[in-house]
Amino acid sequence: MAWFKKDKAAAGKKVKVPEGLWVKCNSCKEIIYRKEVDRNLKVCPKCNYHFRISARERISLFVDEGSFIEIDSGLSSNDPLEFNPEGSDQVSYKDKLKAVRNSSSIKEAAISGSAKIDGQPVIIIVLDFAFFGGSMGSVVGEKFVRAVEKAEKEGLPFMSVASSGGARMQEGIISLIQMAKTSGAIAKFKQVGRPYISILADPTFGGVSASFAMLGDIIIAEPKSLIGFAGKRVIEQTINQQLPDNFQTAEFLLAHGMIDIIVPRKELKKTISTILSLTA
Ligand SMILES: [Zn+2]
Repeated sequence: MAWFKKDKAAAGKKVKVPEGLWVKCNSCKEIIYRKEVDRNLKVCPKCNYHFRISARERISLFVDEGSFIEIDSGLSSNDPLEFNPEGSDQVSYKDKLKAVRNSSSIKEAAISGSAKIDGQPVIIIVLDFAFFGGSMGSVVGEKFVRAVEKAEKEGLPFMSVASSGGARMQEGIISLIQMAKTSGAIAKFKQVGRPYISILADPTFGGVSASFAMLGDIIIAEPKSLIGFAGKRVIEQTINQQLPDNFQTAEFLLAHGMIDIIVPRKELKKTISTILSLTA
């Protein structure tokens, strides 16, 4: 569960845009007028740091206005393992889920549906890091597979945006199964010859990067996103070696052939639109 562990690089970046007039950039530490950041698609105007944004904000970034039609919005986890942490002072998974659902506008860590990008139809699923660290449990996996199958049935391109710490710990083995389930759905989808575009946002880790996120025909990442499997410190302790400073950044992954392209937020729609038109 990489998102529980703060390595040095992650600790520096791991702050949400707070409510208020001014925000502090996690990267350059400048204090910036909030509206200026908002106007800039929540990208720091000084250093180009891409703040984390919600799934709905992401969708509105690159789909045609009013074209998104959500599917499976009612699916929510029913705590299959009846997971309760040890110790009576701990809040149960069920109660935590309830609290997160009440405080956010979504029922699970992913939103899926059909949309158009410059008039081109596509099926998309977007993970939301603010909901249990965007973690993949039974519902995220199920929503993913249903969305892929819809794309397959309708012969449409499929797109995902990952922003996740990995598998949902509270659903144990059922979360891990989602890795095979989503990967299997993608393998089947690829037989119909339509493109799967995978977008990696900060952060993409664990069971999500180890399954569907890295299976895109085209893999796009946002600048400076942290992407990996286990956290840097865990790897360093395991192999007993020092890792490079920019290890697990989008830029490092691009240089080593793990992703195809880094696209700034403001150019994302244009890039996706071009890919869709080239693969139509
Ligand atoms: Zn900055």
